[in-house]
Amino acid sequence: MSTPSLEPAKITTVQQGLLDWFAANRRDLPWRRSRDPYHVLVSEIMLQQTQVDRVIPYYHAFLDRFPTVQVLADAPTGEVIKAWAGLGYNRRAVNLQRTARHVVDSLDGAFPHDVEALRSLPGIGPYTAGAVACFAFEQDTAFIDTNMRRVLHRLFRGVDVPRPVVPDREILGIASAVLPSGRGWDWNQALIEFGALHCTARRPACVVCPLQAACCAYPAIQSAIAAPPVVRATPGPRFHDSNRYYRGRVLAALRDLPDHENGNGIDLQALGQQVRDNFTEADVPWLYGVVKGLSDDGLAMVAEETPPYDAGKDESGPQLRVRLP
Ligand code: SF4
Repeated sequence: MSTPSLEPAKITTVQQGLLDWFAANRRDLPWRRSRDPYHVLVSEIMLQQTQVDRVIPYYHAFLDRFPTVQVLADAPTGEVIKAWAGLGYNRRAVNLQRTARHVVDSLDGAFPHDVEALRSLPGIGPYTAGAVACFAFEQDTAFIDTNMRRVLHRLFRGVDVPRPVVPDREILGIASAVLPSGRGWDWNQALIEFGALHCTARRPACVVCPLQAACCAYPAIQSAIAAPPVVRATPGPRFHDSNRYYRGRVLAALRDLPDHENGNGIDLQALGQQVRDNFTEADVPWLYGVVKGLSDDGLAMVAEETPPYDAGKDESGPQLRVRLP
């Protein structure tokens, strides 16, 4: 027997209401016009930590530069990182190319269609595997991201603030149970869109919501959001003091090296002077730590080189030089 919030009549009401809302309110986003798994994958990776409006121009520019999975796989990693400049979380670019190289080298350039096979690709997690299976191959498959989780929790389990009362595993079970057969693409896009535009984290539009009568969170959600619990903030590091800030600065400096210099890279001392005010010799170990982190993530290369002997200068011994991969 189904639990009260998963009664068939309620599921039908929610399905119809949400699909109707999506038909009337959907945004015309470029990746929604494509069923190419490579295009879908690029959009999903870009959208992971970046707002839709910011992603759109990067999506077009990236596909202009790397129009197929083969072109992306063959490109120097440094070129991919350069094309990603400005989007942030550059590790996504390296992981995306890792996936592309696997698809080209091991699968003859053809993406698998089913979720399990997609999940076995390097750099692909459960959400992305579900999204590619559904949005490229139109499979009826359930998966959840932040927006989908919030909407399903509110509709079928109740208020989710200050924190969800049921674990993701249960929400995923609900996502499977309520997915309308043959409408997986529309349904999952609708859940994402509804969470992004209507049932938002802080200002859900409950008063004009077409799902109000079926929603387990309504009306308690309004008072829960209006009276958030008092949380004592502990001061964190300022962004400009954080390693993430300097990782970004280092990558920007490596990207900006003229191509003929990029082949040899730049030594740590010169790099430090570009990325940090008042950089001194004493800061080199710190900078090496930042660079090593980038290298471990596949975003930079560090090599020890002995500079050519110059009779007019002191011999400085081997140098550590850094460049894009
Ligand atoms: S009534 Fe409010 S909480 Fe419930 S689905 Fe609609 S917008 Fe979301």
